Amino acid sequence: MTPIYLDWAATAPIDPAAVAAMAEAARGWANPSSVHRAGRRARAMIEDGRERIARHLGCAAEQLVFTSGGTEAIGLALAQAPARIVSAIEHEAVRAQAGGAAVIPVDADGVVDLGGVDPAGALVAVMHVNNETGVIQPVAEVAARVRAGGGRLLVDAVQSAGKLPLPDADFVAVSAHKLGGPPGVGALVVRDPDGFVATQRGGGQERGFRAGTENGPGIVGFAAALDARAADAGWLARAEALRDRLEARLAGAEVIGGAAPRIGTISCLRLPGVAATMQLMTLDLAGFAVSAGPACSSGTVRPSHVLTAMGLSPAAAGEAIRVSMGWSTTGAEVDALADAWTAMAARLGRRAA
Ligand code: PLP
Repeated sequence: MTPIYLDWAATAPIDPAAVAAMAEAARGWANPSSVHRAGRRARAMIEDGRERIARHLGCAAEQLVFTSGGTEAIGLALAQAPARIVSAIEHEAVRAQAGGAAVIPVDADGVVDLGGVDPAGALVAVMHVNNETGVIQPVAEVAARVRAGGGRLLVDAVQSAGKLPLPDADFVAVSAHKLGGPPGVGALVVRDPDGFVATQRGGGQERGFRAGTENGPGIVGFAAALDARAADAGWLARAEALRDRLEARLAGAEVIGGAAPRIGTISCLRLPGVAATMQLMTLDLAGFAVSAGPACSSGTVRPSHVLTAMGLSPAAAGEAIRVSMGWSTTGAEVDALADAWTAMAARLGRRAA
């Protein structure tokens, strides 16, 4: 039985249009830095991809520095300043690479509270959409505060790129595999190239901002996935309607972050008294692929730093799962999950009570 895939925030299925574009690009592929005809063809494909990606995202083509994904893009931005201030709900890619950074708290809805933060001279990292709760951060306000305070802003837009308009920040990290492109390719949007220091040096690719032979087929797949999203402008509203329909059907579920503005694709659901691992195993056996928020990197489940930052106890945080959907999610899939969740809540929830 093929599982019903509702773990799109971990990674989205690679779009068939991206697969076809990558297969086409791979035919006769050559090093884009080579001067022969095949190399020039490869270069042209990369530059065409760069133009399309920039157009879809809403930045200038020359602001895109291609990387191996969101994690590398984040690390590259964080390397630009020794003093860093990061929000309490950032992805591990930020937390692990920010080293001893000061922390910006969030309120009970999971929204950052800049409060008394002094951004002077620092690189401030605030994500656009949280990968566990879907809560959208007020990045425009944050940008204004950071700029007025003399700091620079990095926005991790890995969960929002291709869905919401790109935030206006000095650095924005994006990744192809959350929007239907292949894994292993992403970009850092560099709006402030002054004094930019490359962390990976070598052949001078990406105008010296990031050395290493470009992942040309990946870039082509990234562009094709964004083309596909743009061609179906209503998909996010459809997903949001399905997300709302799911949540309305789950009696007894606590929707974490439900009072805040959220992206339409992510639902963080707590079933009081039932460990997330038990919920994941039960739903897995019933044929559903969902996850607990922080399971993304390690395959293990530990209490989420995002949920505890929102004030949940470690025990309560350990009772939340994430359901996430995308452009091809159907009403039938969501209804099937609602049935399975309700059956699980009746069985395990009663036992816990
Ligand atoms: N930031 C967020 C919010 C994410 O959800 C992820 C992926 O899970 C990353 C960063 C890392 O991106 P990548 O897998 O492309 O390195």
